[in-house]
Amino acid sequence: MTDLCFSSGLLPIKQALVRILAEVQSIEGVEKKSLKNALGRVLAQSIYSPIALPPDRNSGMDGYALSSSECVTNEKFTLKQVGTSWAGKPFEGTLLKGECVRIFTGAVMPEQADTVMMQERVEVATDNNIIFPENCVAFDNVRQAGGDVEKSSCLLSLGKKLTAVDLGLLAAAGVHSVEIKRKLRIAYFSTGDELISVGQALTTGKIYDSNRYLLFGLLNNPCIEAVDMGVIKDDKTLLEQAFLSAANHYDVIITTGGASVGDADYIKEILAKLGQVNFWKVAMKPGKPVAFGRIKACVFFGLPGNPASVVATFDKLVLPALQKMLGFEGYSALGFYVTCKQALKKQAGRQEYQRGILTQHDDGTYTVISAGGQNSNRLKSFSEANCYLLLAAEVTEVQVDEKIWVEPFELFI
Ligand code: AMP
Ligand code: MG
Repeated sequence: MTDLCFSSGLLPIKQALVRILAEVQSIEGVEKKSLKNALGRVLAQSIYSPIALPPDRNSGMDGYALSSSECVTNEKFTLKQVGTSWAGKPFEGTLLKGECVRIFTGAVMPEQADTVMMQERVEVATDNNIIFPENCVAFDNVRQAGGDVEKSSCLLSLGKKLTAVDLGLLAAAGVHSVEIKRKLRIAYFSTGDELISVGQALTTGKIYDSNRYLLFGLLNNPCIEAVDMGVIKDDKTLLEQAFLSAANHYDVIITTGGASVGDADYIKEILAKLGQVNFWKVAMKPGKPVAFGRIKACVFFGLPGNPASVVATFDKLVLPALQKMLGFEGYSALGFYVTCKQALKKQAGRQEYQRGILTQHDDGTYTVISAGGQNSNRLKSFSEANCYLLLAAEVTEVQVDEKIWVEPFELFI
């Protein structure tokens, strides 16, 4: 596979990824934010719990709290209810032998009680007598203090992307603000004389610019501040100016188009002039002409012009870089082998990410088929697809019922 790729001057995708990850570093800079402003952001500190969770020993059920020493095996027994422990308003007395306390979920356990019997299993008799069933299980339905999180133990680790659950966990521990990584600043623009922005009339030979909308969507993330720099013509001076001004202000520049070998494809040439080209051709399809390098401290990705190639190269090459810059390590896409219900063909030489449709059947098994046209200018089949079908460089055909590696589209970062 390696020879095949190198003989055509293309860098195998795995090596491209290794080079990208060797080149990009986690960004410096943190911000302190209140919980609601930290959702989806990356923790810049590990957080240790200032309190135990739960803070107190409490009931896991609505029922009756008793001492396990009262439990009788194989026989009903009666205890006198001497008070109530409400959530937020504990029972303040002392539980003596032969007594129990009415208790509600989350209410603090009386000190002398260590067992809760659910209310559905008792009989309430006269004079506050509560009849407990046979087979009362000692220590049942009690949540120990610190049972979820011990005081001072690590609640969330540095580098964790904060989910809704994490915000809830932090709030439970009384943490109201956190240090998070600053946003990654990314500029993107399209290049090409043929491009017209939506809202303008289409004239002969022109096409609407899809890529800035794709990138807007792909970069729409709480960890990213993305700036759309518009369409730049295939003009070396204008492109140089755009590169330089973006390099001075952003962590990453992403361009689309002009990365190939056509007469108007200037991206690699300008990158070499203003910075360094690390590589510019990758053995993947869609997405061969991908330029990667640096201008000053700014990481540069020159993606292909064809929209399907933009999405595939973004997912497979740009995203791992952004994740590392944001403090994630060891990115790997979720994937598994699935039976392909269709014969597929491809040329040897490049690893393909074909667009597929993955279906789960009533018996729980999965099958996959192609989503149709795989040309790199086609977005419609991409829109209908829900996964990539990964076909290795040397593969030329897939038989019906062969198992192939499938990577479902997912919510990234
Ligand atoms: P290029 O790499 O500039 O030769 O572009 C390859 C193909 O992608 C050409 O057919 C372009 O017209 C097309 N293309 C480039 N940029 C865009 C864009 N922003 N939106 C849609 N198609 C594009
Ligand atoms: Mg072009």
